[in-house]
Amino acid sequence: MPPFDVPEGDPFGPHNLPYGVFSRADPSERSIGVRLGDHVLDAGAAAQALGSPYADLLARSTLNPLLAAGRTAWSDVRRALTAWVTVPAYRETVEPLLHPLAEVTLHLPFEVADYVDFYSSENHARNVGQIFRPDAADSLTPNWKHLPIGYHGRSGTVVVSGTDVVRPSGQRKAVSATAPAFGPSTRLDIEAEVGFVVGAPSSLGTPVPLSSFRDHVFGLCLLNDWSARDIQAWEYVPLGPFLGKSFATSVSAWITPLDALDSARITPPARTHPLLPYLHDSDDEPGGYDLRISVALNGHVISEPPFSTMYWTAAQQLAHMTVNGASLRTGDLYGSGTVSGPSEGEHGSLLELTWNGRDTLELPDGKRTFLEDGDEVTLTAWAPGPDGTRVGLGEVTGRIAPAS
Ligand code: CA
Repeated sequence: MPPFDVPEGDPFGPHNLPYGVFSRADPSERSIGVRLGDHVLDAGAAAQALGSPYADLLARSTLNPLLAAGRTAWSDVRRALTAWVTVPAYRETVEPLLHPLAEVTLHLPFEVADYVDFYSSENHARNVGQIFRPDAADSLTPNWKHLPIGYHGRSGTVVVSGTDVVRPSGQRKAVSATAPAFGPSTRLDIEAEVGFVVGAPSSLGTPVPLSSFRDHVFGLCLLNDWSARDIQAWEYVPLGPFLGKSFATSVSAWITPLDALDSARITPPARTHPLLPYLHDSDDEPGGYDLRISVALNGHVISEPPFSTMYWTAAQQLAHMTVNGASLRTGDLYGSGTVSGPSEGEHGSLLELTWNGRDTLELPDGKRTFLEDGDEVTLTAWAPGPDGTRVGLGEVTGRIAPAS
């Protein structure tokens, strides 16, 4: 029998152990939890019951102290947790501290410090270029192959999976209109992304090199960068995304530690342009991750974006984000950018899936171009794990509520 009765092959088996924050009866009584199958282990209570030296990091209401503790502590804690859920001697103590997921409430697992979003899928960038700049000679901007393009977003509106997203209102101007109008967005979209969570901070004035990625980044999660295309199109020139993005960004309730994803590391796509030294990948540290994402709209899969196709890696994004000396804080979150593969069924946004509303998606419950009130979008993913297993990423889901 597999440890603690988790079914063999469960993508949330003891090889995974993502971290979250949950409550039971009282939502203000929050605890760090570790997912095991369809249960959550009260990690703080287990640490206390077992007299663990990590109780101080785990008996908390947020992941931030653990994030700040650094890579050695992350590995030590993970090793301890793995033992607690696999070694029979611990079973009697640990089993009563496992709660069914269906009986707990999951919360935003960490306090988000700064939030940055990148634009690192070449397929996505080319598609967007073709849609919005059809007359340009190159669908990529001249800087795209030289640096990972990004912008600073709004950390205070990062919400946990399951939170409703209220349709934003704002200014939008149809191409044919002479003046902007105000109202609820009529082109509300998703962006299927992966979010990276910074643990250990860095010093102001000191760039973080590519080789220090694993010392600073704790883990990753699925992220949906909700986007109001009509608001975005009118406001973004010349300073980039603003209110068309800042109303909500959804993240999974589960943060998967990078230590769980070693079997998913891959070499990113071949670089077609020479890179400046601070972005130059070394061959022995593959910076890509093989994550297979699915996007479902009202339960119907509409796309399967492959994260393996991302041109810029999370390590390059981190190096670029700090190369000017900007410091990292515990809880910083950065998004990969919309993940889009080369094929039609692999696009991570409705913008691309419907080619800016030109085409319609046929769903069992009707046609779609952009999102309608009541629509629910769910991102799921898995990665190759050790010995042929799969490592599941926690889902991120959100339902569109009518404009207020
Ligand atoms: Ca985005």
